[in-house]
Amino acid sequence: MHAQVLTFMQPPPHLIIGAGLTGLSCAYHLGQDYVLVEKENEPGGIVRTRNRHNGFLCDGTGHWLHLRDAGIKALVNKILPDQLVEHERKAVVHLRDVYTPYPFQANTFGLPHDVGMECLLGLLKARHPGDFGLTAPTAPAQNFRESVERLFGEGICKHFMVPYNEKLMGVKLDEISATYADRFIPRPSLEDVVKGAFGFSRESLGYNAKFVYPRNGGISSLPKALANALPVPPRYETLIKSVSLGERTATLTTGEPIRFNHLVNTMSLKNFVGILSDAPAEIRAAAAKLRATTVHYFDIGVRGKGDIASNYHWIYFPEPEFVFYRAGSYSAVHAASAPKGCRSYYVELSGGDAIELLKHPEQLRQRVLTDLKRARVLSEADEILFMELCDIPHAYVIFDSNYEPCRNQILDYLASNDVSTGGRWGGWNYGGMEDALLDGKAAADGIRNQSHLI
Ligand SMILES: Cc1cc2nc3c(=O)[nH]c(=O)nc-3n(C[C@H](O)[C@H](O)[C@H](O)COP(=O)(O)OP(=O)(O)OC[C@H]3O[C@@H](n4cnc5c(N)ncnc54)[C@H](O)[C@@H]3O)c2cc1C
Repeated sequence: MHAQVLTFMQPPPHLIIGAGLTGLSCAYHLGQDYVLVEKENEPGGIVRTRNRHNGFLCDGTGHWLHLRDAGIKALVNKILPDQLVEHERKAVVHLRDVYTPYPFQANTFGLPHDVGMECLLGLLKARHPGDFGLTAPTAPAQNFRESVERLFGEGICKHFMVPYNEKLMGVKLDEISATYADRFIPRPSLEDVVKGAFGFSRESLGYNAKFVYPRNGGISSLPKALANALPVPPRYETLIKSVSLGERTATLTTGEPIRFNHLVNTMSLKNFVGILSDAPAEIRAAAAKLRATTVHYFDIGVRGKGDIASNYHWIYFPEPEFVFYRAGSYSAVHAASAPKGCRSYYVELSGGDAIELLKHPEQLRQRVLTDLKRARVLSEADEILFMELCDIPHAYVIFDSNYEPCRNQILDYLASNDVSTGGRWGGWNYGGMEDALLDGKAAADGIRNQSHLI
């Protein structure tokens, strides 16, 4: 009798927390038996376009699509037919009042001679230490600083790698693990470096030399199209307050319980452990050790003609005298992102002077404008239409010595409780939008394979 009742009972659905790209992709690839909950009133998470000041489409800092995986390419083209426009990167580094193409390590031409020589000589010493009477290190690099010094040499590290990355992450590079951001750092050949030092650069180096971007609606059109393609739409404005893994129940802020079979988490791993009502103390302790940096950014709308650096896609600023680490332009990539005669920018801040200035927003605003004029991104004649300050908590996970053991400990605990966790923050990792789509698919595949075994 008992067995008969069970056969008529619906198995509890799979619960997916978060309708960012990871959660949406998981729901899409599962196709059935899921509940996708999202605390906001629209899909996309960080990937979200805001219409500011009547007609400026701002994406929450630059969100350019780099598609390498054939399956994800096919999916994106299917849900956004005829929408993707290919762009060639126009990215530069600003140093000593000179703009040099990105990546810095292969484009030192035009820099003051002392800088160029330090960079080239440093790289030669790092790659051919024997020719300079030096000995190549035999032990593996202990941290990110050592790792980039061995790859690029002293000069490139002194002028770009170290100051830029320390400003971005707000911590010293010797706190970061040696393999951090391996995939994202272009490694030019010696030939590329020498050619780049004499002005014959190959600008197509690196993972982001070309990218695609939607013709209409900003980057939001991607998560919106994915949400529209779902058989069961997300439940918006639904915030999970707590989760009991033992009872297989999540509780909403309204008090409503949601029973689940398998749970897929895409909210920040650190926050997720915080809402687990039955997580053991050692898992909470591991989560407390996970560190990340918050990025603050200004969306800026401008009317006017601008200056010599107004139309780069994005610019890296390694020098401490510039308060931001990067400034990009939505409208330089896609002119329709701003009304006619106008331009739009995102200016990103994290470490350095920004930390203190964030306590004084008006001073920070003035400093950002002064620095943008100094860098000739803005001209004196430009009219500033708006400046909106926002933040992205946990934007860059810090790969310090606790990162691997603590993250692994938490992931093992979650896996043993039938929980998948993925995406840039759910997986506590460094990945782009394509990685999020892949992570969501992997979670769905994992659930399907498990159900098949049962
Ligand atoms: C500064 C910056 C620039 C970037 N630029 C690029 C780029 O140019 N190209 C690129 O490919 N990638 C870029 N990325 C990476 C990209 O943003 C991420 O890889 C991607 O957005 C991750 O999506 P996600 O779904 O994993 O996470 P999220 O977008 O964070 O989704 C998680 C979702 O969970 C929801 N949520 C959280 N808590 C709860 C709760 N308790 N209950 C219900 N819902 C909840 C959130 O509202 C959110 O919608 C950039 C990232 C940053 C920080």
